[in-house]
Amino acid sequence: MRRNLVVGNWKMKINQQSAQKLVDGLIDGLPSEDADIAVCPPYLYIPEVSQRLANTTIGLGAQNVATHVEGAYTGEIAAVMLKDFNCKYAIVGHSERRANYADTSQTVAQRFQQAIDADIIPVLAIGELLEEREDGTTFDVVEKQLNAVIDFSGIENFKKAVIAYEPVWAIGTGLTASAEQAQEVHLFIRQLLAEKNQQIAENIQILYGGSVKPQNAVALFAMPDIDGALVGGDSLSADSFLKIYSSFQK
Ligand code: PEP
Repeated sequence: MRRNLVVGNWKMKINQQSAQKLVDGLIDGLPSEDADIAVCPPYLYIPEVSQRLANTTIGLGAQNVATHVEGAYTGEIAAVMLKDFNCKYAIVGHSERRANYADTSQTVAQRFQQAIDADIIPVLAIGELLEEREDGTTFDVVEKQLNAVIDFSGIENFKKAVIAYEPVWAIGTGLTASAEQAQEVHLFIRQLLAEKNQQIAENIQILYGGSVKPQNAVALFAMPDIDGALVGGDSLSADSFLKIYSSFQK
């Protein structure tokens, strides 16, 4: 039985004070749900958030991770550094990094591997652009993005990974894939994995991301292959994020 999971991606939309307030709001308001929850602050706030989250059930993640273990990579943060601050997760391949920071299939696969090597769970983000959906190539795009990582890292490493299906046209736009549209792609991803390893396909958590809100979370989470969400905008309010977290049907 797969556990459900919600992950908040704070992006670069928070400051030290609002991060403290948000963490306190999450800790104070956290209901006792049988599901997992994690937040991904900007790197700079990870040490402080890590301290505040100690002895809570809220997990910590990073928004990215370096492609190499160490070396002359100015401005980068290695997976082992994140591990020092108890990061459990690292998002890799977010569409904003693919679009704005030249992340490629190769670098995403390297980041994925770095996280695995440091015993951090990579949250591998994949998803199509609006024109790709309109052209009917959604499945091709998702398959290519996923296979690039499987080819590099090996299917076995997906035992310790999470996948986030994030249609790029739904991220931060207020447009959400319908529950049926998302389910169709989640099932496709699970079937692709099943061709390589049935057990991994059954056990892996596949999150949906793209304008998830309390208003649409219940319908999305009711789908059999949607195991939770990667949430951007609505993870910046403790109230909204906890409502999303409480949207799994018992
Ligand atoms: C994201 O950043 O991964 C995301 C899904 O953002 P939003 O929820 O704001 O669409």
